[in-house]
Order: sequence, then C-alpha cells, then structure tokens
Amino acid sequence: MSLKGTSAIVTGSTSGIGLAIARRLAQEGASVMLNGFGDAKEIEALRASLEKEYGVKVRYSPADMTKAADIRGMVEEAGKAFGAVDILVNNAGIQFVAPIEEFPEEKWDAILAINLSSAFHAIKAAVPGMRKRNFGRIINIASAHGLVASPLKSAYVAAKHGIVGLTKAVALEVAEEDITVNAICPGWVDTPLVRKQIEDRSKANGTSIEAETKALIGEKQPNKRFTSPEQVADLVAYLSRKESSSITGTTHSIDGGWTAW
Ligand code: NAD
Repeated sequence: MSLKGTSAIVTGSTSGIGLAIARRLAQEGASVMLNGFGDAKEIEALRASLEKEYGVKVRYSPADMTKAADIRGMVEEAGKAFGAVDILVNNAGIQFVAPIEEFPEEKWDAILAINLSSAFHAIKAAVPGMRKRNFGRIINIASAHGLVASPLKSAYVAAKHGIVGLTKAVALEVAEEDITVNAICPGWVDTPLVRKQIEDRSKANGTSIEAETKALIGEKQPNKRFTSPEQVADLVAYLSRKESSSITGTTHSIDGGWTAW
C-alpha cells in the first residue's frame, strides 16, 4: 500500500495499459479517476469492482482527450472528488499506420491531439494544485517511438517524441518542488492497440495472426516477447511513490531491448 491516501487520474484507462495502471494504483491505495471510451455499463461495472476490491474511491470521467475543456473539467472533478490530484498518468493514445503521402490529415490531427496535446492540457490543469501541496507525480506514457522511429508512423512518432520533450520541459519548471515528471517508453505491449496492427498486417500479407505476431515482435524487440500491461503498471507505481522524488525529467524504457540495437 505504498500509495495509501493519494489520488490519481489515469487517462485512457478503460482498456489495455491504462486499465492495468488504474488497477495497480488502486491496489496500492490510491483513489483513481478512470477515463476513456467504452460501453457505459461495462465501465460502471469496472468502476464499482475496483472500488469494492481495493477499498478506495474510484470515479469515471468521460472526458474526450481531443477537447481541452473536457480535460480541464476532468482534473477539476478529480480535485473535488478526492481533495487533490497527486498522480497524473497521461496514457490515452491511438495509432494509425500509413505512408506519409497517404497519411490522412484528420488522423494526424487526432493523434497529435490525443497522444500529445491532451497531456499538455492535463498537466497545465493539475500543476497549480500540485505546487500548492508541494507534491506531484506526473507520468507520461510515451513509447519506444518517443526515442526512435519506424516507417509509416509519422504522426505517432512525432507525438511520442513530443511527449518526451514535454516531459523534460515541465520537469525543469517544477524541479524545486516535490513534483516529478517522467516518461515511460514501452516496446510492444499486448493490448487492443497492437492487436489491431497485427490483424491489419495479417490481412494485408495474407498470413496468420500467429505468424504476424512473431514477425512484428521479432523485427523490433530482441527478447521476442510482449511486455505485459502489468509490467508497465509496476513501473508507474514505482515512479508514483514519495520515495521516487529524485527521478525526474527522464525516460524509462521497458522494451525488451528494442532501443539497445
Ligand atoms: P488501448 O487501445 O488498449 O487503450 C487506449 C485507451 O485510450 C482506451 O481506454 C481508449 O478508450 C482511450 N482513448 C482513446 N481515444 C480517447 C479519447 N479521445 N479520449 C479519451 N480516451 C481515449 O491502447 P494501449 O496499447 O493500452 O495504449 C495506451 C498507451 O500506451 C498509448 O499512449 C500508447 O501509445 C502507449 N503505448 C502502447 C504500446 C503497445 O504496444 N500497446 C507501446 C508503447 C506505448
């Protein structure tokens, strides 16, 4: 229960990595604001089950990460519900893959808005309260693509490099207070976001899901294994602790060796 009595917002926490993070923070004793899209009944069942299982307050915000006003509202709501926002995890993200000449402008705009600008809006809204209490842990879920590139992912790579830069800039601004800002850079994590890429490749190449999974991981990740959402969540919990106060302004790879090539 290393986070007992704290409170957190996890954007994009109705699925994949964000859901594992929300669960882990609740398990460690933090009240949690869930966010993301999905079936309303399923989200309510998830909210109620986390609350019951871990004995913390769990709320849900339907804020759309493309909308600055929604994001400000979500931060305000969490502050009112929990009394503070101690931990902010900017995790919501989408992917789209296409050659630059064919990359749809609306996909570029959506990826930049959800994967990068949403973190700016949330951090801007949360930092004043963190400064007042002289405590905050901001964790941005970037990607190995925040450090290196791959073809066909211009918007995603640009947004993820951007969030690494945002992490460093804000870390410097708040460094004298007990507010840390870090980025986590996962390699392949087994979630719906990656499953869709595998399905698309399998359709395009006329190959099996198994063959494409093996090829996708093998191309980039030397350990040839998926990272689990829970492994990323462990790192978030570690960075969220009071004791992690000296770790700031940096990137944490969890990529099976991807960026060591
Ligand atoms: P996912 O598709 O399983 O989950 C994405 C979450 O974001 C969902 O809860 C979804 O509802 C939410 N979301 C999407 N658009 C939104 C919007 N406009 N407003 C609010 N919520 C929105 O994806 P994931 O793989 O768990 O990805 C989570 C994060 O991790 C993303 O930032 C992604 O780029 C990053 N990441 C994933 C991998 C991977 O291999 N899966 C690797 C590196 C980084």
